[in-house]
Amino acid sequence: MSEPIHGPLYITNTLTRRKEEFVPLDPPRVGLYVCGPTVYSDVHLGNVRTFLSFDTLYRWLSFIGYKVRYVRNITDVGHLVGDVDEGEDKIAKRARLEQLEPMEIVQKYTNGFHDVMRLFNILPPSIEPTATGHLIEQIGMVERIIQSGFGYEVNGSVYFDVPRFAGKYAYGELSGRRIDELLTNTRDTEGMDEKRSPLDFAIWKKAEPQHLMKWPSPWGEGFPGWHLECSAMSTKYLGPTFDIHGGGMDLKFPHHECEIAQSIAADGHAPVRYWMHGNMLTVNGRKMAKSEGNGFTPEELINGNHKLLDKGYSPMTVRFFMLQSHYASTLDFSNAALQASEKGLERLMAALDLLPGLKAGTADGADVAALEARCHAAMNDDLNTPVMIGELFEGVRIINSVNDGRLTLTAASIDKLRTLMQQMVLEVLGLTHERAAQADDRTLDGLVQAFIRMRAEAKAKKDFAASDAIRDRLLELGITLKDTKEGTTWSRS
Ligand code: AMP
Ligand code: ZN
Repeated sequence: MSEPIHGPLYITNTLTRRKEEFVPLDPPRVGLYVCGPTVYSDVHLGNVRTFLSFDTLYRWLSFIGYKVRYVRNITDVGHLVGDVDEGEDKIAKRARLEQLEPMEIVQKYTNGFHDVMRLFNILPPSIEPTATGHLIEQIGMVERIIQSGFGYEVNGSVYFDVPRFAGKYAYGELSGRRIDELLTNTRDTEGMDEKRSPLDFAIWKKAEPQHLMKWPSPWGEGFPGWHLECSAMSTKYLGPTFDIHGGGMDLKFPHHECEIAQSIAADGHAPVRYWMHGNMLTVNGRKMAKSEGNGFTPEELINGNHKLLDKGYSPMTVRFFMLQSHYASTLDFSNAALQASEKGLERLMAALDLLPGLKAGTADGADVAALEARCHAAMNDDLNTPVMIGELFEGVRIINSVNDGRLTLTAASIDKLRTLMQQMVLEVLGLTHERAAQADDRTLDGLVQAFIRMRAEAKAKKDFAASDAIRDRLLELGITLKDTKEGTTWSRS
């Protein structure tokens, strides 16, 4: 592994609350685990922000030469309504409301999640494990927790004994909570007929007869606890101790705090070396959440069909808007800021378009190497995308000045500037040229429409061999034609 370019990478470790030099356990390999969505509803823009924050980390780690194994799970069972230990599974509830099988709900919203990730150019992870695909590992972990004395079974459910754990190990360090304060503040009475302490949490739950999603276990038919899933899946693919665990700030407690306790109880040591948390997207200072009714979906964002939106915004405008704030700060949704981002992105992309046509001079009027060093330094400083974007606008100023003849750059510097701008904008920030993509789509549509007309003419002449051949050739190319009463439409297969 070569040294990260322009100095080491510093990231803020939520556990120690310090900015620390990132040193992977096994360079050049890096293990990164990010809590994925619970697939019971459409994702909203707040969720997108968290996945984008970790996309930026993934992209930057890869860019500076690490080989990242990026695991982002799908929670498809065990996350109960209200994030508590009693009641209905979020997915089962949605299945009842939509009158579908729970696994149809899982598939439907997993597909939707993937579509949204693609829309925002968020890269897919290396492994995307599902909780239902890892029951054996989870049952094994529950057994190890019982063996170590920190889990107890009552009536087919198994609970984690938090006070007992806290008597031996630190509990609450990640979220800065103290066990005595938690005990005085908790008014939680659910499950108290079975739990020894209100702080205890279910790692395995007995399924009531009406419960749809259940599996056999040594304790009878049941299902795993939400916190347990991530512990089992992260350590299975990344090893008993891995480099970075991420998620939204709201997952610090109880989800991640419980993950730490579970791993220590089951395997004797903490699972994670660096915890990283992305901050929330807010609306008028309040967290965007489905339950608050202040979250909108990407479709609403694009077509502008929502009371919070003055107009529609493109996915890249939103990506750029989010990257202009630091991942660890809250970001308040605002139409004015989005409109400024729209203009800023246009300026950035217009400068990129000028790069191939810039004419070289004999001297350098700007220091491109220094600009590059500053871009890299900003990213190495806890992924400081707002500072990096500020530097990119210095690049825009240089490009525009060279283009207007107010500044000269040698051919070598123009080359360096082109590489730098393309790497930072397209590869690291993951911004795409929307106008170019839209133009490509228009060209493709024009071509397919021409084939549709040729096919209609062949059909009119009763030359069905020719019309079928056109349809089949298009299908081979990934274009499906559909004949409707209104005419023929097409889609990508
Ligand atoms: P969920 O499916 O609700 O567990 O959320 C998936 C991810 O989105 C988690 O990492 C959450 O922390 C994150 N998330 C939820 N709401 C927001 C928000 N308003 N801003 C940023 N991230 C969020
Ligand atoms: Zn998780």
